Amino acid sequence: MKQPDGTVLRILNVPFATYTENEVIARCTDYAMDQNPHVVITAGPEFVMHTRRDQALLPLLEGADLITPDGIGIVLAARLHGHSDLERVTGVTLAEKLLAQSAERGFRVFLLGASPESNAKALNAVRASYPELAVAGRNGYFDAADVPMILDEIRAFHPQILLVGLGQPRQERFIWEYRDALSVPLMIGVGGTIDILAGTVKRAPVLFQRMHLEWFYRLLADPKRWRRQLALPQFAYLAYQERLRKGS
Ligand code: UDP
Repeated sequence: MKQPDGTVLRILNVPFATYTENEVIARCTDYAMDQNPHVVITAGPEFVMHTRRDQALLPLLEGADLITPDGIGIVLAARLHGHSDLERVTGVTLAEKLLAQSAERGFRVFLLGASPESNAKALNAVRASYPELAVAGRNGYFDAADVPMILDEIRAFHPQILLVGLGQPRQERFIWEYRDALSVPLMIGVGGTIDILAGTVKRAPVLFQRMHLEWFYRLLADPKRWRRQLALPQFAYLAYQERLRKGS
């Protein structure tokens, strides 16, 4: 990751930024004002497990500008390494705060992802909250053959911020592959955030969030996720093994 030493904590080879949520937002707004493209990844235990299975994701880890800890699993693993104060920075929070910043600072935002209905609802909701914000979007169900047209559509809008919600790790691969072609100053993979902005999917109630049981709420709301969530105990086991290997 392109970050100064001392601001990175490697967990199972993934270089996480140790910034607070406010520092991450500040970095992101700086990126959005820059000419060059910047890539931000929000990584939870599932994403870490993807990087262990798929070698093609490794260059993304070193090339990303910022990787935020998205999930209590990462925060707990950080504690094993003596980082007791690592803050969780989720894709939803990042998106919500950056939308507010964009309205204030005049950044143009493009939302790529989710179903056509969900994407349209998200755009309506964002426009209702921030009437002055320039926001556009497109659904995330497309074939490889459609990609040139989609890149043209995004480029024609000239966004400073591109939020990509195609699911992990597809969204990260998409951003990585087309980062230069898109040349958007700030590109972030945000998972199911567009559905949450649309209100199609509810975020876990605050109580679940406070108790760090958001993953459990998602499992209850969508039991089909159980297979994906097997990544959580696997991650916990490997993170613990890593801690033992490194000693105290
Ligand atoms: N999605 C998409 N195109 C696809 C597959 C998925 O746009 O081909 C969207 C899906 O509609 C949802 C998001 O990607 O809005 C993935 O949400 P999920 O909660 O699974 O994200 P993750 O857990 O990967 O962060």
